[in-house]
Amino acid sequence: MASLSLQHINKTYPNGFEAVKDFNLEIEDKEFIIFVGPSGCGKSTTLRMIAGLEEISGGTLKIGDKVVNDVEPKDRDIAMVFQNYALYPHMTVYDNMAFGLKLRKVPKDQIDKMVKEAARILDLEKLLDRKPKALSGGQRQRVAMGRAIVREPKVFLMDEPLSNLDAKLRVQMRIEISKLHERLGATIIYVTHDQTEAMTLGTRIVVMKDGVVQQVDTPQNLYNAPCNLFVAGFIGSPQMNFMDGVVSVNGNEVSIKVGSTTVKLPASKAKALIDGGYDGKTVVMGIRPENVHDSESFIEMSPNSVVESTIKVYELLGAEVYLYFDVEGFPMTARVDPRTTARTGDTVKFALDMEKVHIFDKETELVIT
Ligand code: ATP
Repeated sequence: MASLSLQHINKTYPNGFEAVKDFNLEIEDKEFIIFVGPSGCGKSTTLRMIAGLEEISGGTLKIGDKVVNDVEPKDRDIAMVFQNYALYPHMTVYDNMAFGLKLRKVPKDQIDKMVKEAARILDLEKLLDRKPKALSGGQRQRVAMGRAIVREPKVFLMDEPLSNLDAKLRVQMRIEISKLHERLGATIIYVTHDQTEAMTLGTRIVVMKDGVVQQVDTPQNLYNAPCNLFVAGFIGSPQMNFMDGVVSVNGNEVSIKVGSTTVKLPASKAKALIDGGYDGKTVVMGIRPENVHDSESFIEMSPNSVVESTIKVYELLGAEVYLYFDVEGFPMTARVDPRTTARTGDTVKFALDMEKVHIFDKETELVIT
């Protein structure tokens, strides 16, 4: 069993800086957990505490049932893969993968079996005699993975393992890692800056900010139901659009006034604002770019949520078009069909899909509905 339990984990560096604050997470066996968040939010520090490379200032870390706060890194049954995969340049691929096992005095025939099995899994069988300099970046990365795999650890920790690779290789390796996770049946904790990696690889994603966990959820839930403004803005690219507006309750009907533009909320969203006593208060309305439509049929269907604006930038990305404009001074992006006729300088009507809006409390920044 390779479950992990992080209970009230804190990290204060010797200079007094609190890098991780009251981190709580239960990780189940075979999960693929992703840590994301802006630079400096404490992702690597948390990973390094799990690895035992950084002392834990407070809290309890368990691997399986065992408290490992004071267990040496080498005795934690964990393998770590870093972004700079630092292979031994004078050793062959085979020896690079065998090195750790030799140090642990594993019998030769067993080492041979383990290295060959890892090479098979990673498709490195034909490269075993090569030195690292004769390998591509992706192949080197796979050797680094191989070195981790041969140890048969219960838990893999990966700190931006793909960040040194070019875009095409990243995609290939992402798919490899996903397959690897299934084949090995191991628990993986993975730090990344890359939204696509986070969304496609993770069974759950941990979003961090300033050393504090903001939300832990499946990729789908994070995208569809962010718990606060930060998560809403952080997950998704292009970013969610945000507008400040004042709530107006009239019986069962709720509208939001953004400058001189008024949009009406559907009943499904209205109730939370009525119940929460938000009449007359300022809230933040969020809507993802794909829920801002320029098609005529949508505009006709949604007379209570139409805004009009002049396109500032038109961007064609092949399969989709991004239109950039302002609504009442708030910058907006619409992600529309490439067949759109809208171009820079055109004044265009957009319908907001109000069933898909997110409303946040302006002060607490927590989601209301
Ligand atoms: P990035 O995405 O840039 O790698 P991160 O989320 O992994 O960032 P960490 O490397 O965990 O962030 O660092 C968290 C915070 O702790 C940062 O503000 C960093 O400056 C600080 N920090 C890291 N190491 C030390 C140290 N040895 N002493 C003091 N502060 C440190």
